Amino acid sequence: MELNLFFRLSFITLWALFAVVRVYYGRKTGTHSTTAGVMEKLKTAELDMGKGFKIITTIITGVGGVGLILYLISPTWWTWTHIPLGEWIQWLGIVTALVPILFLVWTHQHLDKQWSIVLEIQEDHKLITTGPYRYSRHPMYLGIFIYTFGLMMISLDVLVTFFFGFSIWVNYRRIPREEEMLIKEFGDEYIEYMKRSGRLLPKLFKNKT
Ligand code: SAH
Repeated sequence: MELNLFFRLSFITLWALFAVVRVYYGRKTGTHSTTAGVMEKLKTAELDMGKGFKIITTIITGVGGVGLILYLISPTWWTWTHIPLGEWIQWLGIVTALVPILFLVWTHQHLDKQWSIVLEIQEDHKLITTGPYRYSRHPMYLGIFIYTFGLMMISLDVLVTFFFGFSIWVNYRRIPREEEMLIKEFGDEYIEYMKRSGRLLPKLFKNKT
């Protein structure tokens, strides 16, 4: 099989695997749809970066989306978006995207029905501090960021990188709002939890904040 095709198929397979995990847990926990997720992304962009940013997000998502489709179809005339770097990056990308999918299963197991694509406090919402949540307050985001980075590596495509890079950034910007919401709901319990956990990566020195 041609190597380029192999990488594109790996890209699709990893994407599908990710989708299977999300749909499975979405069904299990009754969470919102993808449309809700996209709307949330736009809302985040607007809240965090002003109204004009919503337009920029829409454009980037649109152009990136078209770029993504073109990358996947890869017609012979579509070559200018390829990043000329070694193919070992693409091999490494497969591992980089695969491992976080397994990690994601672990985080879903613990976050359980507290999970939602949009930021919300649900009925009987419990504060989760077990499993990966013991060390990191946002292990799911961490996993998704690494997974997305893996896809960028596999593609070695400018528009795909642009699209996913932007998505990582927007999602990262949503964290303060999420933490504010959780502090409002859980008060000192969450503040104490913040002291012993890291935002994305585990805290190495527990006495520092
Ligand atoms: N940011 C988390 C969860 C993402 S899902 C992560 O990356 O792992 C988003 C939902 O998770 C939000 O609606 C929020 O209410 C909920 N949430 C986030 N951290 C939580 C925690 N420690 N316990 C319970 N719910 C949490």
